[in-house]
Amino acid sequence: MIQENLSRVRATVAEGVRLVAVSKTKPVGDLQEAYSAGQRLFGENKALEMRDKHEQLPKDIEWHFIGHLQTNKVKYIAGFVSLIHSIDSLALLQAVEKEAVKHDRVIDCLLQFHIATEETKFGLDMEEARALLDEVRQHAEAFSHVRIVGVMGMATNTDDRDLIRREFRTLKGVFDALRSSYFDGAESFCEISMGMSGDYLIAQEEGSTLVRVGSAIFGARNYAVPLND
Ligand SMILES: *Cc1c(COP(=O)(O)O)cnc(C)c1O
Repeated sequence: MIQENLSRVRATVAEGVRLVAVSKTKPVGDLQEAYSAGQRLFGENKALEMRDKHEQLPKDIEWHFIGHLQTNKVKYIAGFVSLIHSIDSLALLQAVEKEAVKHDRVIDCLLQFHIATEETKFGLDMEEARALLDEVRQHAEAFSHVRIVGVMGMATNTDDRDLIRREFRTLKGVFDALRSSYFDGAESFCEISMGMSGDYLIAQEEGSTLVRVGSAIFGARNYAVPLND
């Protein structure tokens, strides 16, 4: 089932777009099945859950952290995470820097923007992002173990395709603006993480480079089971 879903999704992922298989809440066996089908990029949104899965699965998996991350949980993932999609405060970026130093690594990060109409979704607005980036620029030596490589956002959970498209277009605009200003066209600033099971086709049309697809691959999630994180 997972392998079939995966091939169906893969067939629709556009060239130049990477597929993050979002395996949150799913048992290790499900990830193994996707791994056997060639999937090497997985997304999780709880630090302890990701750490446990990392310990149990092959080491050539690329782990992306995609959810709200508390500063005191960064330590669980700093040794192996490939990309943190969800930097939404200077304090979090500082916490990532601190843990990255301990592991002698540079950790790639995305700035998460609030683009949806819902209040509940985390993320920065342009003013907050500029304040954060000003701080990073003025104290570059204090951020030498983190690298901001792009932006991430979640569209409103709605059937209104036009609204979703407008929100993705907004995020692409944010990316372009930051790339030409703060990042001076740097090639390392190249990722736009947008699109989930219900809207990744639209996201791709609007310039996504990373789509985060969960339920279309692994099936619906059961949140009734309490999680250990
Ligand atoms: C759960 C989650 C996804 C995947 O959602 P699906 O609708 O199951 O594809 C993508 N991004 C984030 C940030 C998530 O938390």
